[in-house]
Amino acid sequence: MRRRPREHRRLAPLPPSRRVETGPDGYDYEVRAVTASRAVKVYRCPGCDHEIRVATAHVVVVPIDFGDVDDRRHWHTACWGNRANRGPTRKWS
Ligand SMILES: [Zn+2]
Repeated sequence: MRRRPREHRRLAPLPPSRRVETGPDGYDYEVRAVTASRAVKVYRCPGCDHEIRVATAHVVVVPIDFGDVDDRRHWHTACWGNRANRGPTRKWS
């Protein structure tokens, strides 16, 4: 039984923990996973307007087309995933 030499690697321009997704405002954001051990501050999630507590794994989204890292937002992972279902009911700033 012969083994195949090597699987083709998928093209991965960004590491798995970083990906680009479209935000609720239509702009592109880099989405970074924040592990529980690295969540050392309390943030307020713009999706549900509740706090993201310390030691809670979540995501931080950074605008790509405008602004800088000061415009990044911390979201609950589930809220970011459901952002398209919430509708444009809220301005971020
Ligand atoms: Zn939330």
